[in-house]
Amino acid sequence: MNIKDFKKLKRQAAGHEGPLTDPNEMLLFKPSTKQEIKFYEHLATRHAIDNTDDIPLQDWTPTFLGILQENKEQNKDFDQERVIERLNACSPTSLTSKSQTDGNVYLVMENLLHGYVRPNVLDIKLGHVLWDDAASEEKRIRLDEVSKTSTSGTLGFRICGMNILKNTNVQELHSKYYEPEDDGYIFVNKYYGRELTASNVTDAFDLYFGDNNLSLQNRNDLIHMFSKRLQLFYNTLLNEEVRMISSSLLFIYECDTTRWINFSQEQELIPSHVSYDSDEEGSIKDGQSKESISGKTELSRMSIIDFAHTKFTPGLGIDDNVLDGVESLIDIFERLKTKYTI
Ligand code: ADP
Ligand code: MN
Repeated sequence: MNIKDFKKLKRQAAGHEGPLTDPNEMLLFKPSTKQEIKFYEHLATRHAIDNTDDIPLQDWTPTFLGILQENKEQNKDFDQERVIERLNACSPTSLTSKSQTDGNVYLVMENLLHGYVRPNVLDIKLGHVLWDDAASEEKRIRLDEVSKTSTSGTLGFRICGMNILKNTNVQELHSKYYEPEDDGYIFVNKYYGRELTASNVTDAFDLYFGDNNLSLQNRNDLIHMFSKRLQLFYNTLLNEEVRMISSSLLFIYECDTTRWINFSQEQELIPSHVSYDSDEEGSIKDGQSKESISGKTELSRMSIIDFAHTKFTPGLGIDDNVLDGVESLIDIFERLKTKYTI
């Protein structure tokens, strides 16, 4: 595997162009900032909060694997099975000591879409306040305006974008809100979510969960799974002193019915994370099919991503700005549960 073989991530739901993946689409390389890398490193190395039964914060994030600096050293071919060793060899100190002009610094993490055949992906940005201390005056004014005129202000979350298979609800969507992608997918752009209001924001969830390949039962199961996840995530956040500015909940579910038939009995609220350890199931071995390489049986997942403006803030208490948004989502999912009852 060579950095030159990395390709653009498919099924991106929102955000900047830039995330890359390896040829097997297991890893995600995100051009990143020091603050985001610091947050992931802190998350990976801190002592677990042990006085709670709640799900630890890191279980809601993609698995962090290290950083990769785009320079000559890294451009040499490297053995795929040893990718983690290589990645770990890029120590954080090499990040700070090297000049940024050597190339991009990539955050390396698990590609959450790995194992999915036809994923529907939704990015929901959390928070009323969308800027942190580092933002310029111009940026603060601009983002306050976005918040004031969208559900960020009223509900504490905003639909940022989607990458979904076309479904019948797309017919009601104005063409300015989406662009067709390949294989029957559409990319729902940021203007869609910006113009939704507290009274019609459930349309976005009808659109997202509107896949026509799945049965009503499947869709009902999904609503219940995500509803439960939101409640558990809320509990997780109650234990954390953190400020997450502009982070997103990423929702993923499978639209391929064959995978539903094979795996629907095995679903977990928090699917176990990809393991790259060669002794465990899910490791990379020669001659295996893509499905058995991944060993993945999950059909949906909710993760928290995008920590470019996030930091731990010991002593400052819980993150109300984000908790409000999660609470609004919990309420909406309560309504969706009734609506999707069969
Ligand atoms: P940005 O700073 O550009 O907003 P994000 O971290 O929010 O960057 O990522 C942008 C998009 O990339 C997300 O909306 C999501 O679709 C995709 N993405 C990010 N991280 C992952 C991941 N670990 N696995 C799969 N997709 C991801
Ligand atoms: Mn983002």
